[in-house]
Amino acid sequence: SAEIELRAVTHAYRTETGPLPVLRHLDVKMPPGSFTAFVGPSGCGKSTLTKLIAGLMRPDEGQVWLGGQMVRAPRATVGMAFQNPVLLEWRSILSNVLLPLEIVPNTLSRAARLDRARELLALVGLSEFEEKRPSELSGGMRQRASLCRALVHRPEVLILDEPFGALDAFTREDLWQTMARLRAEERFTAVLITHDLRESVFLADEIVVMSARPATIQYRMASRLPAA
Ligand code: ADP
Ligand code: ADP
Repeated sequence: SAEIELRAVTHAYRTETGPLPVLRHLDVKMPPGSFTAFVGPSGCGKSTLTKLIAGLMRPDEGQVWLGGQMVRAPRATVGMAFQNPVLLEWRSILSNVLLPLEIVPNTLSRAARLDRARELLALVGLSEFEEKRPSELSGGMRQRASLCRALVHRPEVLILDEPFGALDAFTREDLWQTMARLRAEERFTAVLITHDLRESVFLADEIVVMSARPATIQYRMASRLPAA
């Protein structure tokens, strides 16, 4: 897991009606292995923030650092999961989870890749479903599979952009347990975007509350009391 640091990040989108300022002077440091939730009003720039961390965009001003290196381009050391998992329908669940290992350079043998994918599927309770197609699974199960895919290549950073937002309340809380199990077994620094304060408290160490656009950090708080 790597430290994530935003240094004075400012960003605006160029639109037909002129620049749309989205983020303003954001300074955040997330230690290696930490789990940070970002909450804030719709449209304040949370997804923009995740794209900057993932290197999918570069900020107008300021810098993003991952593990002491400035981010200039998309990184294989970042895994992402979104509200609506995009799984390839013509591939099995196992083969969807294997995908990053076929794309990201690595020296793993075919057998080692399969072991790694199956290790994650077991951790999220999908072992019996590895040969199914995505459409044969429930929404919660598809999201479990997408978490496995996001983690299979052992990324340093895991970005979760409202991954549980589309699920019913019971499934969502199941997924929180799954996420906690993944965190206990895997090493990553997590950034969670959510509208659900209970979810932030359950999953995150720290909650960053953003203001309306152009977003700044309103306040940060520990999500639970430090262990005695
Ligand atoms: P959030 O994730 O907090 O809902 P976003 O980061 O998705 O917010 O978007 C922040 C603001 O920027 C919104 O007003 C959105 O409509 C706008 N926006 C997002 N992406 C683009 C884009 N590619 N071009 C122009 N405006 C954008
Ligand atoms: P989210 O808040 O999860 O990003 P949205 O529906 O706001 O979901 O945005 C979906 C996608 O469309 C995002 O990639 C976002 O950057 C892009 N987007 C949002 N608003 C605009 C906009 N005004 N112009 C262009 N792209 C946009």
